[in-house]
Amino acid sequence: MARYTGPVCKLCRREGEKLFLKGARCYSPKCAMEKRNWAPGQHGKATSARGDRGSDYARQLRAKQRARRTYGVLERQFRRFYSLSLKKRGLTGLNLLQSLELRLDNVVYRLGLADSRAQARQFVNHGHFTVNGIKSDIPSMLLKVGDVVVLRERSKKLEFFKEMADFAEKRPASMWLDRDLKSYSGRVTRFPERAEIDGSLDEQLIVEYYSR
Ligand code: SF4
Repeated sequence: MARYTGPVCKLCRREGEKLFLKGARCYSPKCAMEKRNWAPGQHGKATSARGDRGSDYARQLRAKQRARRTYGVLERQFRRFYSLSLKKRGLTGLNLLQSLELRLDNVVYRLGLADSRAQARQFVNHGHFTVNGIKSDIPSMLLKVGDVVVLRERSKKLEFFKEMADFAEKRPASMWLDRDLKSYSGRVTRFPERAEIDGSLDEQLIVEYYSR
């Protein structure tokens, strides 16, 4: 599946907030948002100064782009997630966010076994994880309640993952995941609730964007 390969920090600057796409760097003074907190491009400063006073369409578009970029999903796939959410029972916006949270790469990130979603995606792509005992290398795979994600035996020997697990101990996993860092595994115990998903995302505006 295709992915965005352009400059990552520009995405945060465009959205006017940190999207935490680069792991540890995002918490350091090297973060571009600390140094150049205005939109990229020739007229970036002027655009940022205008703030959020755009049209309804502009606000809807920004909300959609922010969610898409946060989870590292390209437009076509994001729209597919939206279509699937429409067909499910319940609130479309919440269904959409839950689907994004239940992507395999996001679950690996939420378990603390990767520094960022981009890194989690790479780990999954490289075949480091199994789902219910079967090697799974598709980052967009949607997990279900009860699914178990485990780091493969040969990967557990890698120093990198040992360090990652040590670091993860200091960070709580999401409440909807049952994490066991000793075995480098986690189980989806339930669907994430809205309060457990990034509060800066506005699913209502995303639904409005696609309902135009
Ligand atoms: Fe965004 Fe992280 Fe880059 Fe800062 S370092 S601009 S939070 S991706």
